[in-house]
Amino acid sequence: MFSPALEKQRQHLYALTVQGMGQRLQSVTEATALFTALRWGMQELDRTYAETPAKVRATVACRAGCSHCCSVSVDVQAHEVFLAAEHLQMNFSAADLAGVIERTAARRAHIAGLGPGERNRLMQQCALLRDGQCSIYEDRPEACRAHHTYNAAVCAAHAIDPAVDLEAVYIPTLRARLFAVMLGLDEAIEAAGFDDRAYDFGSALHEALTNSLCRVLWLRRKPAFPDSCLAAPSTGPAQV
Ligand code: SF4
Repeated sequence: MFSPALEKQRQHLYALTVQGMGQRLQSVTEATALFTALRWGMQELDRTYAETPAKVRATVACRAGCSHCCSVSVDVQAHEVFLAAEHLQMNFSAADLAGVIERTAARRAHIAGLGPGERNRLMQQCALLRDGQCSIYEDRPEACRAHHTYNAAVCAAHAIDPAVDLEAVYIPTLRARLFAVMLGLDEAIEAAGFDDRAYDFGSALHEALTNSLCRVLWLRRKPAFPDSCLAAPSTGPAQV
């Protein structure tokens, strides 16, 4: 339960985000404008963090070079995958891009045989973590932007043993505000007809980097990636 004041903030942030992103997506007719709209959404998350009361932000334990959370499986929607892929294709050398493709392929192969529970417990370093830093920081997924705790020691313990409970060290005010924006973005993107399925970040990123048809499907507002990339694949035959 949130306090009435925090609940009011949540509702306000959610409504503003749905409206702001909805308006931007309405006028989008090509990929460049779509990426501009999506980056506006990511900046809204950063702005919401920056506008959170200083005494709340002062409790955040996260620091540059701390990357315990970058071993947790990240669930994303298609737009986050294409933002990351665009960043990689615009900024990485051919050799570095090949390295990312190799690491995401390895993740995809590794989790292909895992059930949802096993995947959620899997601790495996993100393919985009380099020297303890996110190599696509400006275009990292929403969950990565919204993740903060007040106790890095608990994060370190969780990275070794996923049974260690992270919920206890989340920062409720910050989390409520950032999740309101995330929900608003997802609602507006879904309302505009774009793929809103939850994908495993590494698997879907591998597909985006190796199959240009994904982006065409996404822009046509169809499911962008095969079912084998879903965060929780169905038990039926996979769509390929
Ligand atoms: S995308 Fe960046 S912030 Fe997110 S898990 Fe990977 S390395 Fe960490």
